[in-house]
Amino acid sequence: MPARTGQQYISGLKDRPREVWLDGERVKDVTAHPALRNGAQSVAALYDMQHGPSLREEMTFASPSTGDAVGLSFLIPRTIDDLVRRREMMSRWAWASCGMMGRSPDFMNTIFSAWAGSSPYFAQDRPEFERNVLNYHEFIRENDVTLTHALVNLQRRRTAGPADTLSGEVALTLVKETDAGIIVKGSRTLATLGPISDEIAIYPVASHRLGEDAQRQSFSFAIPCDTPGVKFLCRESFDFGRSHFNHPLGSRFEEMDSVVFFDNVLVPWERVFLLGDVELCNGYAAGTQSDTHTGHQVLSRCLVKAEFILGLASLIVETLGSSGIPHVQEQVAELITQRDVLRACLRAAEADAAMNQWGMMCPDVNAIRAGRTIFGRSIYPRMVEIIQLLGTGSLMALPAEADFSAGIAPELEQYLATDTATARDRAALFHLAWDVSCSAFAGRQVLYERMFGGNPVRNSLALYNNYDKEPFQRKVRQFLDAEDWP
Ligand SMILES: Cc1cc2nc3c(=O)[nH]c(=O)nc-3n(C[C@H](O)[C@H](O)[C@H](O)COP(=O)(O)OP(=O)(O)OC[C@H]3O[C@@H](n4cnc5c(N)ncnc54)[C@H](O)[C@@H]3O)c2cc1C
Repeated sequence: MPARTGQQYISGLKDRPREVWLDGERVKDVTAHPALRNGAQSVAALYDMQHGPSLREEMTFASPSTGDAVGLSFLIPRTIDDLVRRREMMSRWAWASCGMMGRSPDFMNTIFSAWAGSSPYFAQDRPEFERNVLNYHEFIRENDVTLTHALVNLQRRRTAGPADTLSGEVALTLVKETDAGIIVKGSRTLATLGPISDEIAIYPVASHRLGEDAQRQSFSFAIPCDTPGVKFLCRESFDFGRSHFNHPLGSRFEEMDSVVFFDNVLVPWERVFLLGDVELCNGYAAGTQSDTHTGHQVLSRCLVKAEFILGLASLIVETLGSSGIPHVQEQVAELITQRDVLRACLRAAEADAAMNQWGMMCPDVNAIRAGRTIFGRSIYPRMVEIIQLLGTGSLMALPAEADFSAGIAPELEQYLATDTATARDRAALFHLAWDVSCSAFAGRQVLYERMFGGNPVRNSLALYNNYDKEPFQRKVRQFLDAEDWP
């Protein structure tokens, strides 16, 4: 089955019920449950875009196995043009959720495509693991599989230091090897999109290093979400069943985060990509350059999101008639600068892309890291703050959709219209601004952007310790030592 339709994705979820727990209830059908179904429909809409007559060309490429059209995020880039083409496709998917669905399937597709492009890395563990990676990449590409991942082990306690304190009681741990595969038991967090994915990938997270004695927690594999013993525990849903008018984002783009428990789960050998080698597990992201490829997807989406926030901010200003106020202009100008910084990082990542040792074209790691880091750490939280500062009381003077057909409607029309907007248009806009900046959905978006790329403190420590600062120190020394400058 090449590039799927939305209906094929939904049918796939229905056909393979998995163990999902939500608010004390075992969910029978994730495509029908009110907390999850609209998120699933939004993912389905992405798959449908692959079949739109005008977009098919731009969303797919010819499968190297069959020649059929398959999703472009499965491409192993060989040229800068490939990266640009893939980014354009990923940006189209990002626009479909206004940048709010971090886990559109292209996120995971880029990881496995990068691994396939760097497959000899896995042979360093065991020769057959390289073949497993290549076969799995072909399998997900040809079947347009939707993936989630859960990389972080739960811990009973945290100690400062580069390596996690893992306990076999809670961390996902190898129980034994059998003829059929490996048996694992324990827990992982967080699987965003987990309940509405086809398969779950497990591998280490680059920001959390495994200790030297963590052989039994060192592995990489992927299995179907309905594998016996795999259990998803959902957080509260932020789709409260309200209309698109009242909750424009939460009612559409709930991608659901979940903790995953593994109760003696069998992973067939052909689905194991790394096993027992702490060093290879700790080094896979840099060793395969998969982090630059997911970063390329992330940055493409972040730029879309920044542009969406900029558009929203300028509509708020226009609607409230506040565009002549200097500090309002300054705040919108800050959003413009942030958007342009992200775009510059993305363009630099592509312009400075280079071939890795396995013959795969990789975006520039520094430009990718800079854009990702600054977006999560400062740009996105500040963007949300600016929406609050621009919207202020209008974020609360917010009639519900039903109020416009109730006895209070005449007052709404009289008092809430502005020079440029009817009361209803104003309310629609500010419901969106509220869902970006104040709602539970909005809070989770900020947390997501801050944390999904791993613990930012540990990422900073890794950057400090691995970044080559010597050329810059040399310049300063030259200045200090110079009798005459320049
Ligand atoms: C909305 C959301 C979605 C996510 N989606 C996914 C997903 O789909 N897949 C996935 O794998 N992960 C996902 N993540 C998880 C994310 O990778 C982790 O939350 C993140 O890596 C931080 O780990 P933690 O939550 O265990 O933090 P903790 O380790 O619990 O950290 C708690 C605090 O302790 C500090 N700390 C702990 N240990 C150390 C240390 N050794 N050195 C320095 N500081 C330390 C941290 O800085 C932090 O302040 C998601 C997270 C969020 C918030």
